[in-house]
Amino acid sequence: MPRNANCRDRVFGRGRWVPFLTTTALVAASCFSGRAAAAPPEPPNRTLQIYFVDVEGGQATLFVTPEKESLLIDTGWPDNGGRDADRIVSAAKLAGLSRIDYVLLTHYHMDHTGGVPQLVERIPVGAFIDHGPIREPGDKPTEDAWEAYQKVLAGKKVKRIVAKVGDTLPLKGLHAEVVSGDGVLLSKPLHGAGEPNPACATTEKRATDQTENARSLGTIFRFGKVRLLDLGDLTWDKELEMVCPDNLLGRVDVFIVSHHGWYQSNSPALLAAIAPRISIMDNGETKGGTPSTWEIVAHAPRLEDLWQVHYSKDGGAAHNVPDARIANLMGTDAGNYLKLTVSPDGRLEVFNSRTKEAKQYAAPM
Ligand SMILES: [Zn+2]
Repeated sequence: MPRNANCRDRVFGRGRWVPFLTTTALVAASCFSGRAAAAPPEPPNRTLQIYFVDVEGGQATLFVTPEKESLLIDTGWPDNGGRDADRIVSAAKLAGLSRIDYVLLTHYHMDHTGGVPQLVERIPVGAFIDHGPIREPGDKPTEDAWEAYQKVLAGKKVKRIVAKVGDTLPLKGLHAEVVSGDGVLLSKPLHGAGEPNPACATTEKRATDQTENARSLGTIFRFGKVRLLDLGDLTWDKELEMVCPDNLLGRVDVFIVSHHGWYQSNSPALLAAIAPRISIMDNGETKGGTPSTWEIVAHAPRLEDLWQVHYSKDGGAAHNVPDARIANLMGTDAGNYLKLTVSPDGRLEVFNSRTKEAKQYAAPM
């Protein structure tokens, strides 16, 4: 049977999933649907949708539950005429939202918190979630981002939630547990985790990071059988506290690559521990996507595919995924997004808004 014949029946837009007809899931899982629609495909009911908004090397990740409850992780950069806020609002509109229920700020660096004032000018926000006080005083851009955020909290009287490790975020359709925050890390294994991690022995040890990065709020999400991990810009040294000598996190299905794929994060011990099926990297053309880090992420055990928000100039031909899995190619500033659709039983789909194509992944056996 031609490869595309299998793929056509498995498009989300048809509202059904047909079991693979090929003899191996691996072959079937690598087929692309070839739709040319302008908007992402309409998923069936009861899916979690996650938009990876292009904020040029910062973070802005929008989670939308089946009940249309929403959580935005980070707000991108300030300035640029509100470019990042505009892109976030566009994604929110595509998702049918007229407000964002929660905005979680992983930490106060400009590429995460800088976009707060412009965002609240454009769309109502129900509450902010953060890790507590700024921990990098004296760094002018970070202080500026923090102060602008404080002004928004005071001026708009928006609710603020300070989250601590072990807290469950107040989302109804999505279980979200905080695993790192303000430099404090998970200290007991999550359910089903706690196995020794052999990769610790060969992973380099690094000095303690003193910046806001190490304070990042990290969250593990559970939607049906699917586990997803976002650690913001949490640094290498902090990762090891969670996965060495024992893996306290356990495996995940989806990893939002830490720190835009920069060398300061994404240790071999972390990737061996979480062993994601799919990883998505929110790098910019000249930010993140370090070749040595790309090697670790792209060759993690169990990985089916890595996706990138941008082509990485540093990566060159050897350290970028094929164009089909990149939302923004070299030299473009089109703001293309990636959209991940998660079914509770473990099926995943990634849609590339540049190519208008989607790729489906079967649930694990
Ligand atoms: Zn960052």
